[in-house]
Amino acid sequence: MQKNRNKKMGKRSYSKQIRLLIYAGIVICAAAAAFCAWKIGRFKAEKNSEPAAAVEQTQEVQAETVQETADTNEEQRDKRPADWVNPLPKPQIEEEFLTPNEYSRPQEKLEAVTEIFIHYTANPGTTALQNRSYFENLGSTGETSASAHYVIGYEGEIIQCLPLKEIGYAVKEHNYNSVSIECCYLDESGVFTEATRQSLIELTAWLLMEYDLGIFDVKRHFDAGGKPCPVYYVENPDEWEYLLADIDIYLENTLIGNKDFEYME
Ligand SMILES: [Zn+2]
Repeated sequence: MQKNRNKKMGKRSYSKQIRLLIYAGIVICAAAAAFCAWKIGRFKAEKNSEPAAAVEQTQEVQAETVQETADTNEEQRDKRPADWVNPLPKPQIEEEFLTPNEYSRPQEKLEAVTEIFIHYTANPGTTALQNRSYFENLGSTGETSASAHYVIGYEGEIIQCLPLKEIGYAVKEHNYNSVSIECCYLDESGVFTEATRQSLIELTAWLLMEYDLGIFDVKRHFDAGGKPCPVYYVENPDEWEYLLADIDIYLENTLIGNKDFEYME
């Protein structure tokens, strides 16, 4: 009887020890799990903060950086780390600079770019090369003063007519602080082809990063003086909003390396 009781008690204290060990184990595991979750959370936050910061920079938050860095883009660029590279891929661009002349390439310095202007060529069915030739010929005809930094053809090809360090004659009173992009189109509606629109999205996004600008710095020529240019986006303001949204969608997704995204349009 006594023996049995001792045996029973021994068994009980033995199982109590095991129970204690299990409890201790549970507490240690829970603590370890909580620590891991916290660590993963921090890692994710750190990982996300990089592209998020980059995206914010292109939006309103950049005002602060612009102010404290510089008045001109060149100074601004100088303040960037020497190894700074535009994180967006540069679209394929054919450089066909105009011959210097007072009507389309006056070779005046473009110092501070604060806006990107979008235009249409107002000449349906003409190619990027033909529009570049029009600017080039102004040098001899002297018919008027006009030019743009880029012309995007209806097949999506991009021709650069002016170096980014020089002004163009594209938007009255904004030539000294903006880069202009002309877009070709096929019919009177003025709607851009898919290829033109896609090249425009990629080029504009690249320029926004290049100049540390935000999506609301992208303007229609119409927004500076009321000229109906680009006519399709003046007559269809919703489509303009979609285009801006798509530039932003492209920019943000490309920054974080996400190729699997959808546009608004
Ligand atoms: Zn225009």
